[in-house]
Amino acid sequence: MISIKIAKIFEDLADMLEIKGENPFRIRAYRKAARNIRTLTNELEKFADEGRLDQIPGIGEGMKEKIYEILDTGRLQFYEELKSEIPPSLVKLLSVPGIGPKLAKKFYDELNIRDIEQLEKMAKEHHLAGLPGIKEKTEQNILKGIEMLKKGLERMNLGIALPIANEIVDQLSKLPEVKRISTAGSLRRRKETIGDIDILTTSSNSKKVMDTFINLQLVERVLVCGDTKSSIITYDGIHVDLRVVEPESYGSALAYFTGSKAHNIRIREIAMKNNLKINEYGVFDEKTGMKIAGENEEEIYQILNLPFIASELREDMGEIEAAKENRLPTLVKLSQIKGDLHVHTTWSDGGNSIEEMLKTSQEMGYKYLAICDHSQSLKVAGGLSEDKLLEQIEKIKELNSKYKDFDILAGSEVDIKADGSLDYPDELMKKLDIVVAAIHTRFRRSRYEMTKRIIKAIQNPHVNILAHPTGRLLGVRDAYEVDLDEILKVAKINKIALEINAFPERLDLNDINCRKAKEYGVMISINTDSHITNQLDYMALGVSVARRGWLEPKNIINTKPIEQIIKFLKS
Ligand SMILES: [Zn+2]
Ligand SMILES: [Zn+2]
Repeated sequence: MISIKIAKIFEDLADMLEIKGENPFRIRAYRKAARNIRTLTNELEKFADEGRLDQIPGIGEGMKEKIYEILDTGRLQFYEELKSEIPPSLVKLLSVPGIGPKLAKKFYDELNIRDIEQLEKMAKEHHLAGLPGIKEKTEQNILKGIEMLKKGLERMNLGIALPIANEIVDQLSKLPEVKRISTAGSLRRRKETIGDIDILTTSSNSKKVMDTFINLQLVERVLVCGDTKSSIITYDGIHVDLRVVEPESYGSALAYFTGSKAHNIRIREIAMKNNLKINEYGVFDEKTGMKIAGENEEEIYQILNLPFIASELREDMGEIEAAKENRLPTLVKLSQIKGDLHVHTTWSDGGNSIEEMLKTSQEMGYKYLAICDHSQSLKVAGGLSEDKLLEQIEKIKELNSKYKDFDILAGSEVDIKADGSLDYPDELMKKLDIVVAAIHTRFRRSRYEMTKRIIKAIQNPHVNILAHPTGRLLGVRDAYEVDLDEILKVAKINKIALEINAFPERLDLNDINCRKAKEYGVMISINTDSHITNQLDYMALGVSVARRGWLEPKNIINTKPIEQIIKFLKS
């Protein structure tokens, strides 16, 4: 978990250097390195031990030395020095949407604003608007930004929390004293943002388990350490609770702590009608007080005459009714995904070559991969000129002849322009196996304009998938306003799949919109939008969104064999 600590330090460094007004190139290098280190989770030390740190994209000589320094000493001199120059609370201002380093520095220099609380106060008292270049509108936007940030701070993205939770579970599972262990809470239900991490375990030696837990490398602070419950805060500021429960209550405790509250209330009501009482300790006969079940979660549903309800569905959003009528969906599983239809490479802004992306995909057991680098007008993301794309298509043809039992699709993530036209001419898109269309610029248009723009794009006969359909970035940018019903109708007619973009900040479409797409009979493609090989693992996040959206394998194109994919792409 040291990788998370190092990533955090590099992210802070980038922010601090930005406030100092340093070379943007250097700042970007820190951010890129941080992003790639973060996805390595527990592999970083292995890379270091084997002297292979420079194989991580974005890690040059200087970064390498800094990583070794942190691994060896637990701290970084350069970071400590910068901290004395630029207060960390000032760096936090940059997390307010709309505040860049220049503005943060201005507020610091002119008004001595050092943290978000002071900033909010000054904005409310209209002290900001007096500064040169700052209008009243800016002040309002800053207050809005702080509001949004507060929401984001209360909850963190699943993509950040899940690897940390998995790592803790992994570490604790290594103890022979730990018998059963699972995450619980909103994380186990795979909500897109979660408040804190809950972990549940049974053990013959609770003291040993708790000791190990509070001494994990990722722990920054211990809040409580008890026999049955301990709480810690990680380097990332994430609150983690660990509970040790009796083996005979493990199932009922797991159901209780998984929630949701609304789901549990419905379950308890059904129990009461059957003269049963359910709590975190078990299922009891109401008259005799005898315990009937509790060791396993499945028993609880069995006793109530219900099929098992997957944790992702437990929101009281119709799952109880569906269970009673035996029409729960057979949810898609990660193991059923046969390929990724939207990844980037070094040809545009990715960090790995086509060959490296292929190798990892094959190791994951995939049967196909679509290379979809950015299109020409997206210059900031290294979009491919028409000639470059033609060259890439040739390269992929050549590679395809070398791979047996694996298909590489030549594709592109083609930008949808403001008027709904596409960033490559039709003759060129015709040469591609797959076209993923997406909006990357000019979001601030009316609902009517955005809907019209997207509909025009997906009516182009060469487009196959609409990527990140609502454009939201969790905690950063709300979805743009669109009439999704209209888009789904057109998608259905034109046989366009909508994407679940599995990138942690996106998870777009979200669960609710997935259910809607299913109702319209529109196919979904779960894609990671990976920019380096490690990100291919984001597929698990995408699948969790699909499961929360009640999707079955038949609703998802990339559960299908390549022959059917090709048929779909040609239709
Ligand atoms: Zn994109
Ligand atoms: Zn992309």
